Amino acid sequence: MSKERTLSIIKPDAVAKNVIGQIYQRFEDSGLKIVAAKMKQLSQAEAEGFYAVHSERPFFGDLVSFMTSGPVMIQVLEGDDAITKNRDIMGATNPKEAAAGTIRADFAESIDANAVHGSDAPETAAQEIAYFFSSIELN
Ligand code: UDP
Repeated sequence: MSKERTLSIIKPDAVAKNVIGQIYQRFEDSGLKIVAAKMKQLSQAEAEGFYAVHSERPFFGDLVSFMTSGPVMIQVLEGDDAITKNRDIMGATNPKEAAAGTIRADFAESIDANAVHGSDAPETAAQEIAYFFSSIELN
């Protein structure tokens, strides 16, 4: 096992539902440490930049509108195999397919309003962390 960092976002639907604390509890219960965090209302340009990899996908416009519809809670999680561990506790992209007891199964509404984001690989984790946090903001 290797110690890793990953970027997590609690999306506008989950922030509006007032479940930041419950989601943080799940990170902590699974051994992930929150080493940086900020709440932010994303601008259209910030959301488009973050999801640039999906810019050609049919759902891109709706995804950007959703991600700018309210504040998000952005955090860096650290721990053994943090990237995979976070993806495991998040559950599948579509909450209808997410395993019981995962964050998306318990808190997500739909495939687009699906409560959380988590980096999917070491390279994207490094890029996504640098997109939102400077080195002096990481503890
Ligand atoms: N998404 C969507 N419709 C789709 C597929 C994805 O709205 O048909 C959104 C959804 O919010 C998802 C995000 O686009 O979380 C990024 O998609 P990805 O396949 O990377 O899923 P994730 O890594 O978030 O599970």
